[in-house]
Amino acid sequence: TETLHIVGGGMAGSEAAWQAANMGVKVVIHEMRPKVETFAHQTGNLGEMVCSNSFRSDDDEQNAVGLLHWEMRAANGLIMQTAEEHRLPAGGALAVDREPFAESITAKLKAHPNVSVSYEEITSLPTEGHWIFATGPLTSTQLGQAIQSETGAEALAFFDAIAPIVYADSIDMSQAWMQSRYDKGETEEERTAYLNCPMTKEQHEAFIDALLAADKTEFHEGETAGYFDGCLPIEVMAERGRETLRHGPMKPVGLTNPHQPDEKPYAVVQLRRDNALGTLFNIVGFQTKMKYGAQTDVFRMIPGLEDAKFARLGGIHRNTFLNSPTLLDAQMRLKSRPNIRFAGQITGVEGYVESAAMGLLAGRMAAAEILGKTLETVPQDSAMGALIHHITGGAEAKTFQPMNVNFGLFQPVEGLKGGRRGRKDRYKAYTDRAKAAWSTWLEQFS
Ligand code: FAD
Repeated sequence: TETLHIVGGGMAGSEAAWQAANMGVKVVIHEMRPKVETFAHQTGNLGEMVCSNSFRSDDDEQNAVGLLHWEMRAANGLIMQTAEEHRLPAGGALAVDREPFAESITAKLKAHPNVSVSYEEITSLPTEGHWIFATGPLTSTQLGQAIQSETGAEALAFFDAIAPIVYADSIDMSQAWMQSRYDKGETEEERTAYLNCPMTKEQHEAFIDALLAADKTEFHEGETAGYFDGCLPIEVMAERGRETLRHGPMKPVGLTNPHQPDEKPYAVVQLRRDNALGTLFNIVGFQTKMKYGAQTDVFRMIPGLEDAKFARLGGIHRNTFLNSPTLLDAQMRLKSRPNIRFAGQITGVEGYVESAAMGLLAGRMAAAEILGKTLETVPQDSAMGALIHHITGGAEAKTFQPMNVNFGLFQPVEGLKGGRRGRKDRYKAYTDRAKAAWSTWLEQFS
C-alpha cells in the first residue's frame, strides 16, 4: 500500500499518525523541529504542548470538550491515552506533566512498526502521494507562502481576531432586536443575520470607562502584533478616542429599535449570526485582548447581554489558519488538490483537544482512502462531527474565525427547556446522543 506523509508532529499530526498506523498504513511524519524552531515550542519532541498543560474539562456529560475526550478515548486516541498516563491532580480538568507526556508520545510513535520520523521542514505542497498538513498555528514561513499561493491571500490568515461568541438563547430579546443595517438583504436569512443591542449615552460612557480600565493580556514574546487597522482590539480603538467605537462597530445608524421607536439609541452593539443553525452570534468587530474574566464583566454591561453565555471569548493571536469552509471538502481534503488534507489548528479549530480531534479524523480518513475503504459521514450529533461539519461547511465563510468545540455547534435537542436545571438535562441529552452516534460510526472500523 501507499505511504501516508504527515507534515507536523504536534497534537494533530501525532494523533493522525497513530490512527493511520493502527489501521495498517505506513506513515512518515515530517517534523521541522528541532532543526527549525518556532517562538513557542521548547523541544524537539512530538506532541509538545506549547503553553498550558491542560486539556481542559474532563466532564463528558456536561461539557463539550470533555465529550471530545470521551470520543477520542473510544477511538483509542494517542493523545488522550498518554494524557491519562501522565495525569496530574487538577479537579475536573485533565492536566498533565507536559515533558514526560511529550516524551512518551514521541517514544510510542517511534516504536510503532508502521511509523517513521523524518526531521525536516517541508516547504511546498506536493502534487503526488497522500499528505496531511498539520503544521499548526505557527506553520513555517516558507510553507505558509506556498499554501497562500495555492489558496489565494484572502483564504489563509496569519492572525486570528476573534470576536466573542454568544449563545443565541442567552440574549434578552425584550431589549435586543433583529434587523440588518438599512434593512439590507434580499432573503429572510440575510435579514435575520443581525441582532442589535441599544445603548443610551450613560450606558455608553460607563461601557467605555469599563473597557479602558479592564485587565488586558500582552502578546507573547516573538508574536509581535503589528495589527492591521481592520482588526484593532476594541480597547485600542477606545484609547484612540472615546467616540471612536461609536463611529466604528458601535455606530447607531440605519437601525430602529422596535422596543423604543421614538428614541434614537446613542450607540448600538451588533451581533451577527455565526453558524447556519442560528444558535451562535458573534459581537461584530469586538476582537479584544481583555482577560477572560474582564471580558464577561464588560460585555454583560451591554443591554440585552446581561445574562449572556459565551461559547467563546474574544482574542487576537498569531495563528495560521485556512478559510476551511471554502477550501476543504467534508473529508478535509483541499478541493483544488485532493491528495492533500489539512488537520489541526490550521483548519480553523482552536485548542489542543480540538486539534488532536481533527488529526484523529484526518488520519482515519486518509488511511481509509489508501486502503480503498469508503467511510460513513461523521455523524453531526457527535462532538467530532459537530466540529468537522462546522469548519467544512456549517460556519459562515465570510467571517470565519477559529472555533472551540461547544454545544452551540450541535443540532438542538427538541423539547428541553432553558434555565439552569434545563441546561443540565439538555447537555446530558447532547452528550448521550453524541456517544451513541460516535460509537456507531466507529463500528465500521472493527
Ligand atoms: P502544533 O501542535 O503546533 O504542531 C504543528 C507542528 O508542525 C509543530 O511541531 C511544528 O514544528 C511543525 N511544523 C510547522 N511547520 C512545519 C513545516 N513546514 N515542516 C515540518 N514541520 C512543521 N491551545 C490550548 O489548548 N491551550 C493553550 O494553552 C494554548 N496555548 C497556545 C499558546 C501559543 C503561543 C500558541 C501559538 C498556541 C496555543 N494553543 C493553545 C493552541 C495550540 O497551539 C494548538 O491548539 C495546538 O498545539 C495545535 O495543534 P496542531 O497539531 O495543529 O499544531
